[in-house]
Amino acid sequence: MQLPSSAFATWLKDTAGLAFADDKLVVGVPNVFTSEWLERRAYQLVQRTASKIVGRPLDVVFRIEESQARRETSPTGRPATHRQGAAPMFQTGFPNRRYSFDSFVVGPSNDLSYNAAMAVASSFGEHYNPLFIYSGVGLGKTHLLHAIAHRCVQQSINYLYVTSEQFTNEFITAIRRKSTEEFRSRYRSVDVLLMDDVQFMNGKEQTLEGFFHTFNDLHNTGRQIVLTSDKSPKTMPYLEERIRSRYSWGLTTDIQAPSPETKVAILQTKAKEKNVAAGNEVLTYIAERTGGSIRDLEGAFNRVAATAQVAKGPITLALARRALEERGGRRSVTTRSPERVLEAIEGAFHVDQASLTGSKRRRDFVVARHAAMYIMREHLKLSVSEIGRVMGGKNHATVIHGIKRVNDYLESVDGFKAKVDAATDQLAS
Ligand code: ADP
Ligand code: MG
Repeated sequence: MQLPSSAFATWLKDTAGLAFADDKLVVGVPNVFTSEWLERRAYQLVQRTASKIVGRPLDVVFRIEESQARRETSPTGRPATHRQGAAPMFQTGFPNRRYSFDSFVVGPSNDLSYNAAMAVASSFGEHYNPLFIYSGVGLGKTHLLHAIAHRCVQQSINYLYVTSEQFTNEFITAIRRKSTEEFRSRYRSVDVLLMDDVQFMNGKEQTLEGFFHTFNDLHNTGRQIVLTSDKSPKTMPYLEERIRSRYSWGLTTDIQAPSPETKVAILQTKAKEKNVAAGNEVLTYIAERTGGSIRDLEGAFNRVAATAQVAKGPITLALARRALEERGGRRSVTTRSPERVLEAIEGAFHVDQASLTGSKRRRDFVVARHAAMYIMREHLKLSVSEIGRVMGGKNHATVIHGIKRVNDYLESVDGFKAKVDAATDQLAS
């Protein structure tokens, strides 16, 4: 989390801990370039992070490991991509085993998208190209992309799954390094491009331009493209017009919030997956207690299951009530110390305090910084100028703006609410 995801994918993803003795950590790296880059650019970061984990200062050395270079499977044990030489860029752990067509519960809210994704995966490039799926957050878009990726793996088709945030980072790096040709040719080598969350590129015109080049290259040669977005394409006129002007849209489908019946059906699947016995009465209660997002639905279910595990008892309606109601009535924050907020945020967001109070514009720093301001205002009731002072001398407008941004993060930043909750929980003692 302390590095841009593109840097992580390029330099850290394929490293592994080899040995740890006498306060020395040996890190295996695939080649000399990686070793040099890490030495030069990330030594301190790795050293500091590792020291913090073990609780005392330690030394870090990078060692080139031949076997690392040949490792071709992702951590799930599946091959990352299927054609050698077509450099996989971000394929760690993809596709997720849990996200398959089989585990996707179909109901009236999502059957169009499900069927379109199935059709695409049954003969790539021939139906619905591009396929564009949109919905609110937590309704199954990423799940369907992984399901398509599974089919690619089964048929040995060379696919690439990428979020548009990763695409953007890669693209910017390519421009800086003057290697856009290489960048393009890497993308050109895939048969199926699965791009998640295209709304992220909205308003980034140069990136969109780069995307259209890639898109054209692929589309002109009959390669399959599947895009997802949290926003309707209509709210992204730049993207929509450019693609529409050249191709009739392949197919656009949406996913709606699930019906109560579908929610219960999803919970039944989850219960079976996890081998948890829970009656329909309980599942119906969980479904009623949560909003539209399936991610929240899963979260509530996991909470109930975890509570039962701790209690070493069966999942009864009373237990489910207790588990979910505790969530509603959080213990209230008692501290008045902004320093404790910084500590709590540091723990929950994995951003160190210097970055929290600094002014680097990196997104994860900014998000954590705003979360801290929000908690200080909302729970500690500190004045805006006090908050500005604690946060490293920010002015009034910056603090007010930061606090306002928190609403957007609830939608746009994965796990944001859970992190803020975790931080505030820590302050309630
Ligand atoms: P999105 O990408 O639209 O924000 P995700 O694909 O990440 O949503 O889905 C959130 C969670 O809900 C995932 O764990 C996913 O497996 C689950 N999920 C979504 N739709 C379904 C469904 N129809 N059946 C089963 N699980 C689902
Ligand atoms: Mg998603």
